[in-house]
Amino acid sequence: MISKLVSGLNPSATVEIQETLAQLTAKGVDVVRLNAGEPDMPTPAHIVDAGINALREGKTRYTPAAGILPLREAIAEKLERDNGLHYESSGIVVTTGAKQALVNALLAVIDPGDEVIILTPAWVSYPDMVKIAGGVPVFVPTGPGYQPDIRAIERAITPKTKLILINSPNNPTGAVYTEEKLHALADLIAERKLWVLSDEIYEKLIYKGKTHTSVVSLRPELAERALIVNGFSKAFAMTGWRAGYLAAPKPIAKAATILAGHMTSNVTTFVQWACLAALGGGDTCIEAMRDVFAARQTVIEGLLNELPGFTAGPVDGAFYMMPDVTGVFGRTVAGVTIESSAQLAHVMLEKAHVAVIPGEAFFSPGTLRFSYCVSEADIREGISRIGQLLGG
Ligand code: PMP
Ligand code: GLU
Repeated sequence: MISKLVSGLNPSATVEIQETLAQLTAKGVDVVRLNAGEPDMPTPAHIVDAGINALREGKTRYTPAAGILPLREAIAEKLERDNGLHYESSGIVVTTGAKQALVNALLAVIDPGDEVIILTPAWVSYPDMVKIAGGVPVFVPTGPGYQPDIRAIERAITPKTKLILINSPNNPTGAVYTEEKLHALADLIAERKLWVLSDEIYEKLIYKGKTHTSVVSLRPELAERALIVNGFSKAFAMTGWRAGYLAAPKPIAKAATILAGHMTSNVTTFVQWACLAALGGGDTCIEAMRDVFAARQTVIEGLLNELPGFTAGPVDGAFYMMPDVTGVFGRTVAGVTIESSAQLAHVMLEKAHVAVIPGEAFFSPGTLRFSYCVSEADIREGISRIGQLLGG
């Protein structure tokens, strides 16, 4: 029998769909993939070269479980430079993607029954990660523009609340939290003496002249109970390399390192050297990718709002948009009366060969997540197929 812990978990919808799409592709079906949460650009050449050179130089042995010292130092410098956060290398753990940073951070601070506030729509894995750590996810819907609803968060806090999870720029909504909301969150977290886990993996993907602020930088006392998660996947187009990091108070970083020491040991050695090159290479490659995403963002926002029954508010970051599609409910599409966004996503895949992720996967029924990690031509093709499906 499967353990109680694992039977209580759901498969990751964003990961699982890759298998379905691989099967469709193998059958020769041409699917427009507006589902993928990964940059479609190759990893920049200087990073690839650094990985190859590391392999050739024999950097193929175990490293400390927390990662090589030069990389931890470079991450600490990056946090200072980009985010105004002060960490020493002993507060940094290099992890197998941001995923491992999230899980090990939660395992390090959550005791059974501790409540963790998660703002919805939320990335698919957060609640299950909280459950893996023995915690209880508490969902709090965001307000207009997918911005945090501070009053609703206040109301959700109980004596059992241990931590609040923040993700700005946000997956799945693309929202970048306003300075006003971030200040209000920082004040609330400080006053209630909560832990905060800030997942900043999309920090470099912000458009329309907006910038990223780490909530933890707004009140210095937050650092005592802050877990900063970030990674290389999105900013440097390095999803398959599996590298991320956790910055935390030293005892927590040590606890996360103990966990890594038993479960994975170090992140692949030559990958760590490539990450060092990524951090040392300046932001030029990031800016080039950001310009591409910014142009696509404008295109997809306009096109989504032209679809009957779709409403997509303006957002400023990541590479996602999450239109409300309740306007389609009750309509008959390809012979099916649509009653949920999961059903609509299914019909879109089956009949129009366009893949998106239904809002249900992000605890947000009535919405669909569109990712714009494909060319502008593919975005236009995908939305035009949906337009024909809805119109026909
Ligand atoms: N956090 C968020 C919000 C994400 O969208 C993702 C998706 N990849 C991750 C963390 C995990 O990223 P990775 O493990 O590839 O670093
Ligand atoms: N995070 C990305 C997404 O939301 C990649 C898939 C995953 O790891 O969940 O699509």
